[in-house]
Amino acid sequence: MATVSLKGIQKSYKDTEILRGIDLDIGAGEFVSLVGPSGCGKSTLLRIIAGLEAPTVGDVRIGGASVSGTRAADRNLSMVFQSYALYPHLTVAENIAVPLRMRRLNRWQRLPLIGGLLGGDASIAADVRRAAEMLEITPLLDRRPGQLSGGQRQRVALGRALVRDPAAFLLDEPLSNLDAKLRAHTRTEITELHRKLGATFIYVTHDQVEAMTMSDRIAVMMGGRILQCDTPARIYADPCDLRVAEFIGSPRINVIPAEADGAGRIAIPGCALPLRHRGRAALRLALRPETLFLTDRAPKLRGEVAHVENMGHEFVVQVAVAGLPSRLVLRTAMPATIGQTVSIGFDPALALVFDAEGRRCRDVTVCEGAAA
Ligand code: ADP
Repeated sequence: MATVSLKGIQKSYKDTEILRGIDLDIGAGEFVSLVGPSGCGKSTLLRIIAGLEAPTVGDVRIGGASVSGTRAADRNLSMVFQSYALYPHLTVAENIAVPLRMRRLNRWQRLPLIGGLLGGDASIAADVRRAAEMLEITPLLDRRPGQLSGGQRQRVALGRALVRDPAAFLLDEPLSNLDAKLRAHTRTEITELHRKLGATFIYVTHDQVEAMTMSDRIAVMMGGRILQCDTPARIYADPCDLRVAEFIGSPRINVIPAEADGAGRIAIPGCALPLRHRGRAALRLALRPETLFLTDRAPKLRGEVAHVENMGHEFVVQVAVAGLPSRLVLRTAMPATIGQTVSIGFDPALALVFDAEGRRCRDVTVCEGAAA
């Protein structure tokens, strides 16, 4: 396992800038996810780390040494793709053995007929068996990819990646082709595999749930930039940008327009809040669905229930509030009926405040005991 450092990576295709200056230091043994909407440049960045693309500007370092100018095959990285990329005519065991045969055997030993006579296969077979046991696919070793389910194929692809001892694993949307149940299961498996191997993992996904549940740190990318790179807990609770707050979390965070008057008081439509901000500004208050609650006492907002989702253990309720551009979403154990008028409360101290450009305002103070 090794550190991976990206220094000032930029990438353009003709006149189109795809990556606009990426700096990221990944520790040895760390699991870092690159997450963001489709087209934000995640795969391009991973391909640059792998050596499959060259950056227009910038440097990639693996284990402290620059690998600019080093071919993909010589970077000692293992890649797992969404498409598995298995050889259909080879068995599972042979597929897993491919990277080892390429590295350990000379040209003559790789030949099907005389290769067996020249030896070198025993250590490969042992390593294939070890990888298969780790992934619990030993009974599948003699099958061909066409005789496997999607989940099994992905495990074989993982087996092929982990059979050698790479400096880092690069995974590009490896779960996208699996159904929801299998995705959740494979998520657990990959996380446990990371724990067992203690290796460096760089994982590309557009799915914030995958990033949140698997990573030591998440780099949230948009428009060719990393907006924030931090632990899942801090990305969720302390986003530095409204786009990060909106991308992470399901249901999506509520955003309410707010106004700081010249005296620094903050109000949302129809309700003054015990929050203070220097100066006069248009602001946005962001509140996670779990911080809103239905109440009769000192409600902050009133509205009409527009939609209810029964999740079994809770209800996800959408409330249309006059004057707000979008419905508020809250999670509650109390059943609600469409058309019902409800009163909504929240603790202002839990509101995340952003300026008109979406940057986090940290100079907001809560006035203890002030009337809301
Ligand atoms: P993501 O993985 O975040 O979905 P990609 O890194 O695949 O995004 O792509 C980022 C952008 O770069 C997209 O707009 C895509 O169309 C563009 N792009 C990727 N590869 C090429 C290429 N070889 N030539 C031109 N544009 C490309």
